[in-house]
Amino acid sequence: MKILEVEKMVMRFGGLTAVDTLDLNIDKGEILGLIGPNGAGKSTAFNCIAGVHPPTEGRITFNGEYTNQLKPWDLCKKGLARTFQIVKPFASKSVLYNVTVGAFATTDKRSDAEDKAIMVLKALNFENKKELKSGALTIADRKRLEIARALATEPKLLLLDEVMAGLRPGEVDELVEIVQGLRNSGITIFVIEHIMRAIMALSDRIVVIQFGKKIAEGTPGEIASNENVIKAYLGE
Ligand code: ADP
Ligand code: MG
Repeated sequence: MKILEVEKMVMRFGGLTAVDTLDLNIDKGEILGLIGPNGAGKSTAFNCIAGVHPPTEGRITFNGEYTNQLKPWDLCKKGLARTFQIVKPFASKSVLYNVTVGAFATTDKRSDAEDKAIMVLKALNFENKKELKSGALTIADRKRLEIARALATEPKLLLLDEVMAGLRPGEVDELVEIVQGLRNSGITIFVIEHIMRAIMALSDRIVVIQFGKKIAEGTPGEIASNENVIKAYLGE
């Protein structure tokens, strides 16, 4: 059963084609990786799927429903959440406040939203920092907050955009484990990541794009030995 189907998706910004006739799909329970050189169109693809802007062409189906025109908040309520590459929490507010905001996607009651937020913070080993101001967090903790905010919306499909960038190796390992735990709890995951070691360890399958177009797709082993991929990364 597919949780997400993207068919012939195109995203143009004026004369620039950032995503070019992209086909991809994700099975329920899968971790799909998306990689490609800087500017390849990865974040733009996420933006289209998450409703930040509708694609110029093509068709997006989430959980069997056509979603091209839906907004992020509507998609969020249907179970699709994303993190942003640039993390933007309410800096002057506490960790708990920021995560509670996410939990309002699933309830209108403040106490329920807070309970949900606490549950998520516990699952991420983060509850001890719930009173800290978000602006005072380390990079690693900001990434964790970003994941917590997305998780509080109770996603079926979670889109992670470079949540490991800027982390130390030990922090990367910890996050890889956390993401694997999320999948084991039933969440399907679509992940953009530059750190090869992490994407190879995490993904069941990887899609590679360059100049907005898919150039390869396969298991981590197949991708690591794919000539087109090696060329794209060497910049030939
Ligand atoms: P990646 O995430 O793979 O590094 P992006 O999706 O961020 O790449 O960007 C792909 C291309 O689209 C880049 O050339 C970028 O400058 C352009 N782009 C992204 N978002 C916009 C936008 N909102 N307006 C204009 N151009 C954009
Ligand atoms: Mg990006």
